[in-house]
Amino acid sequence: TAGDRGFLAEQEGDLKARPPVVTVMGHVDHGKTTLLDTLRKRSVAATEAGGITQRIGAYTVELDDQQITFIDTPGHEAFTAMRARGAQVTDIAVLVVAADDGVMPQTKEAIAHAKAAEVPIIVAINKIDKPDADPQKTRSNLSEEGLLAEDWGGDVPMVEVSAKQNINLDDLLEILNLTAEVSEFKAVKDGPGAGVVLESTFDASRGCLATLLVQRGTLHKCDYAVSGTKLCKVRLMQNEAGKEVLDAGPSIAVQVTGFQDSPRAGDQFEVYPTAQEARAVAERRAKETARGKVGFAGLHTDSEQTMRLALILKTDAQGSIAAVQHMFSDVKDSKYVNLRWVLTAPGPITDSDVELAATCPEGQRVMILGFNTQVSPSAERKARECSIKIQNFKVIYELYDAVVAALESDLEQEEKLVEKGMAKVKAVFDGRDGKVAGSEIVEGQFAVGNRVHAYRKGRKIGEGKVQSIRRFKEQVQEIDEGNECGLSVEGFDDWEADDEVRAFEVKLVSPELVSKTK
Ligand code: GDP
Repeated sequence: TAGDRGFLAEQEGDLKARPPVVTVMGHVDHGKTTLLDTLRKRSVAATEAGGITQRIGAYTVELDDQQITFIDTPGHEAFTAMRARGAQVTDIAVLVVAADDGVMPQTKEAIAHAKAAEVPIIVAINKIDKPDADPQKTRSNLSEEGLLAEDWGGDVPMVEVSAKQNINLDDLLEILNLTAEVSEFKAVKDGPGAGVVLESTFDASRGCLATLLVQRGTLHKCDYAVSGTKLCKVRLMQNEAGKEVLDAGPSIAVQVTGFQDSPRAGDQFEVYPTAQEARAVAERRAKETARGKVGFAGLHTDSEQTMRLALILKTDAQGSIAAVQHMFSDVKDSKYVNLRWVLTAPGPITDSDVELAATCPEGQRVMILGFNTQVSPSAERKARECSIKIQNFKVIYELYDAVVAALESDLEQEEKLVEKGMAKVKAVFDGRDGKVAGSEIVEGQFAVGNRVHAYRKGRKIGEGKVQSIRRFKEQVQEIDEGNECGLSVEGFDDWEADDEVRAFEVKLVSPELVSKTK
């Protein structure tokens, strides 16, 4: 079978050097996107095709005949989401630190993620063109985080660059090549292609577009591939310059058409020798993973208590969906918290998303979230009409915070009644604002403002709130067990002798919610 061929090749030592796959990480605004853009202009495809490149999820650049592939999604969120799916796509992490800003919270996070993935880190000290750049201070910042520069006696390569002015980027590429040489990244080159889905989007005229990073073997035009349960006959393969390619070897990313249905970013794909074999694999998996359809229908099966927050998420690219969802993996799924991703898809927020939100059952809360996407004006209008809020975010953490804030505000309304006392009605009097229950406090105490439940012969007949307590001729705020008083209850006064009254204190409990390491 296909797998065996790859396996045998590996056994036979048929491994060939492959380009390293690099992810760029770092704090917001430190220059990740700029670095990726500047490098993309010198990608292999760009130099072949005159410089016009498109974002497909990854691209390959060349220096001194050596190639390096960059994952074109900056930030560790995407990197982490891929890892959460079990896909290790990154060989080397480039940590971008702006020399005028130094180590910031997301810099530390990026370090932690790279270390967890056990990939080598190379530091690009960026923005050295700026007058207030202080590379030495940045180095010393980094050493406090356990990254000691080579020229300071440590083992972390660091280069001072300007992504914007294209300064020293060759040095960066050279260091990447050196690191790759030392690490000896290798893969089988012949044999059936296999790897990971980096992105997938839908194009009205071309259908599903998926960017595949080949990790082993070679992917050819007309191959039959399967990713998850999704089947693909590779129709057209294009590089980042939009040029058709007929095959792609290890560490090369190509955008392909031919998937019948969008595969999930982060899922593996592999090629099978025949259409029949590929279909059989896809069908078997579909059966194994057959789960209920997503949608509000499923919500009704939940107990009312856990029906908390339904989310509709639209993003710029398939890859961002996993990144956003991953953010919430440490929000506890508890009795109180239940996030339901009713719809997640790349694309703008449209009327149909608002319509879907509007079908949300009574009592269920729903949020329409956008991440780096557009909101159509008519969707905006429709949302206003239905009083549904659309929130569009550029920063993943702000999206996260908005959802957690919504959960928390919901949870604050979680009322818990704590019983404070019980009284028996002895006689009923006419008071100024209705009837007064002349009562004896049998247990505990009663206080003004307490919630009150009234019972007659063991059955609840009404409820209200303690408005006033009169003891002898005085108004008091509270009264203890063993005393008699006149109780006026707001919202209920249909008292009879022998009724039982129970007083409750309302506690607003904030149940456990989030264990967030931000
Ligand atoms: P990201 O959030 O890490 O992707 O950062 P961006 O690439 O969007 O950069 C943030 C800002 O810093 C932009 O205004 C860039 O033009 C600017 N910038 C990025 N690299 C450099 C650099 O090397 N020098 C200077 N002066 N500005 C830079």
